[in-house]
Amino acid sequence: MTAKRRTPQKGIILDTLCRMGSHPTAGELYEEIHRSHPSISRSTVYRVLGQMEEDGLVMRVCLMGSDDRFDGNVRQHNHIRCRRCGAVADIPWVEVASPCETAGYLITGYTVEYTGICPACQAEEEQDRRAQKAVVS
Ligand SMILES: [Zn+2]
Ligand SMILES: [Zn+2]
Repeated sequence: MTAKRRTPQKGIILDTLCRMGSHPTAGELYEEIHRSHPSISRSTVYRVLGQMEEDGLVMRVCLMGSDDRFDGNVRQHNHIRCRRCGAVADIPWVEVASPCETAGYLITGYTVEYTGICPACQAEEEQDRRAQKAVVS
């Protein structure tokens, strides 16, 4: 096979991103794609992600203490991050009121990041508590 076949890389990357639904970093997304499409290189994933971000097909999510993550859900929404395992989930968008005092700044945007404990970690913490109780009694 000498003819270079154009692979639908964009579609593969977008499908994988939406299927994962976990707001992966570019590296995590590459690892996942690599398992089923080993021919797609890391640099291709990064480059195509950048293009898709410019085209508004994916959203870059910047959260505290984390590498930039990517989101296939480009509708306006907020994120909540688990303080225990770092998982990130989508939650509905809530408009935030503008402060009446801006220290002379012109506001151009804001970031809202909720933190909490995800359902899986809540279950684990509950299990830990029960195990501890069992040891004590
Ligand atoms: Zn968690
Ligand atoms: Zn999201």
